[in-house]
Amino acid sequence: LFYLIFNDEDSSRSMRDFLDEMRAENIREHLRKFTRLPHLAGTKQNLRLAEEIKEEWLEYGLDSVEMVPYDVLLSYPNTTQPNYISIVDHLGNQVFNTSLAEPVPEGYENISDIVPPYNAFSAQGQPVGDLVYVNYGRTEDFSQLEREMKINVTGKIVIVRYGKIFRGNKVKNAAFHGASGVVMFSDPADYCATGVQPYPDGWNLPGGGAQRGNVLNLNGAGDPLTPGYPAKEYTFRYRLEEGVGLPKIPVHPIGYHDAIHLLKNMGGPIPPNNWKGALNVSYRIGPGFTDTFQTQKVRMNIQTNNQVTRIHNVIGRVRGAVEPDRYVILGGHRDAWVFGGIDPVSGAAVVHEIVRSTGRLLRRGWRPRRTIVFASWDAEEFGLLGSTEWAEENAKVLQDRAVVYINADSAIEGMYTLRVDCTPSLHTLVYKVTKQVSSPEVGEEGMSLYESWKSNQASGGFSPFRISKLGSGSDFEAYFIRLGIAAGRARYTKDKKTERYSSYPVYHSVYETFEVVDRFYDPSFQRLRAVAQVRGGLIFQLADSQLLPLDASQYADSLTKYAHSIAQLGQKHQDALITYGVSFDSLFSAVENFTTAASSFHERLKTLDRTDPLQVRMANDQLMYLERAFVDPLGLPGRPFYRHVIFAPSIHNKYAGESFPGIYDALFDIEHAANPRRAWEEVRRQISIATFTVHAAAMTLTPPA
Ligand code: GLU
Ligand code: CA
Ligand code: ZN
Ligand code: ZN
Repeated sequence: LFYLIFNDEDSSRSMRDFLDEMRAENIREHLRKFTRLPHLAGTKQNLRLAEEIKEEWLEYGLDSVEMVPYDVLLSYPNTTQPNYISIVDHLGNQVFNTSLAEPVPEGYENISDIVPPYNAFSAQGQPVGDLVYVNYGRTEDFSQLEREMKINVTGKIVIVRYGKIFRGNKVKNAAFHGASGVVMFSDPADYCATGVQPYPDGWNLPGGGAQRGNVLNLNGAGDPLTPGYPAKEYTFRYRLEEGVGLPKIPVHPIGYHDAIHLLKNMGGPIPPNNWKGALNVSYRIGPGFTDTFQTQKVRMNIQTNNQVTRIHNVIGRVRGAVEPDRYVILGGHRDAWVFGGIDPVSGAAVVHEIVRSTGRLLRRGWRPRRTIVFASWDAEEFGLLGSTEWAEENAKVLQDRAVVYINADSAIEGMYTLRVDCTPSLHTLVYKVTKQVSSPEVGEEGMSLYESWKSNQASGGFSPFRISKLGSGSDFEAYFIRLGIAAGRARYTKDKKTERYSSYPVYHSVYETFEVVDRFYDPSFQRLRAVAQVRGGLIFQLADSQLLPLDASQYADSLTKYAHSIAQLGQKHQDALITYGVSFDSLFSAVENFTTAASSFHERLKTLDRTDPLQVRMANDQLMYLERAFVDPLGLPGRPFYRHVIFAPSIHNKYAGESFPGIYDALFDIEHAANPRRAWEEVRRQISIATFTVHAAAMTLTPPA
């Protein structure tokens, strides 16, 4: 026992050293170094950056670092035929053309290879037609358009504002409703904060800026041509026409200066108030232009090419001293649309400092109990490709041995407080770690990040102190939703409920520079340091604690909440529940069963013989495999790679997480079902799958014999 206590004290002293070693000034230097040049996935610059990271991780002292290549489908604009959108008059003359590039920020004039704004994987084509304004292009926006305004977008080009949901969902909705093309624009209502200047005088999006981004609907498939298998040289590839998630219509992004020209002469009905943005135009719905402009049409000119291209992950390892076959993974992407000042380099710089600090501890003789894996993913921006291909290649080993995956994309999206999304079993650890980190805010010296985060709850819009569920839109997806590995993410965020999924103003534009962080988001780099300490602290605790710091009872609490909220959705259809014999009782009893199993499990842990390595290992395996127990090998309906029964990305918004997604989707819009009996049967089937899965997960927590 003495030995154990000594060991635990030893570990917490090392944790303190590990956190204290991380320096704001170093993070600043890493950010400076990694943002000098553009490093788009599939380019020479991004390969060079991968090699540089590999060399430095080795110098810092990792046991091994390897480059892992894949050949995946990427998408680039045609360099000789640029993409743009025109207004054409009745003679076919172009009376207006959108800009071909963003004005380059000062100091970057001589940089080549800045890819112009485009939507990766857009279809090629020159559709001509009338515009219809569809607000954010959400499911509910199209319903309103169709059911209330009686406007049909078939054969029309829709113009949609960025924000609220993942852009791929907007394109899917537009195509589903028959649109022939999609124009995406950034509205100042969503991409300019009040009282803030456009970059470079402030952190708002300038009128000439535009948001790049892929418009895939992969549903977790990874590389569109090799779903389920790693995209190696030997791998069979589907033909382009068969690729997963590729849009069938052209899509192109523009800034608000160009958007004014497309919107200002639109005719048709006056929009509802919540469809109006902040431009000085009427936001009329269309279709088409008004009065004298009626004969003008809009033409898209899109020449973007899909291309199988080599990408490179960098994988670094620290061998565990006691349980080398248990992996704690910290992964984040390296590829950026342009300089990647925030996305992803604020995150990659933080990982770099965590690796450096890990190396320092190793040199002083420390070694973690479990193996730590550091990953620098490629091609995240093209659909989470690098991380998903590596998950596919290593699926068998990961499902047997991975303890946890912590994601490390952008470390800052605002200047207000911490934001954490993670699996319920990590909640307790997140609170514990944030108590050991200092608040980075001026005037909060001596206060912990935990206290600061908690106190900001009152003034914050969406109670930031609460930990949220994971959605998707970053590299944790394959690990959490496909493989069932406990996962989490942490970053600094803003004080706004409404823009939860709208990100920050300069997102994916050329204005995401080193300077936007250095001048505005985190001049002292204390916020990024705090995020480094949270991400690093989580990894440290998970890799070095004798008993895994995972909490099954927190999972029970969350399941109880989710069961109540899905049942409440069901109760809105009292009559149908009775008519079709649908009940949530079995689900509630499974959740109760799970709750009991979880609390007895944690009771037993208190008396576990910690000097018996086999006892410890058995308990840890139960904790590690708890998340795995929520995986259904058959996947969700029509989404075979979304296999987690408790969490999935919302079908309406990839960025958002949905709990009990199978039941939720079965219930969605059920009042409009063509065949109510069949629809309610599907609800019953989904409730039974959820019930079974929660029961099965509870069984994994009961005593082995
Ligand atoms: N993070 C990237 C984006 O939001 C990629 C997301 C994805 O493909 O899931 O555009
Ligand atoms: Ca693949
Ligand atoms: Zn991004
Ligand atoms: Zn990112």
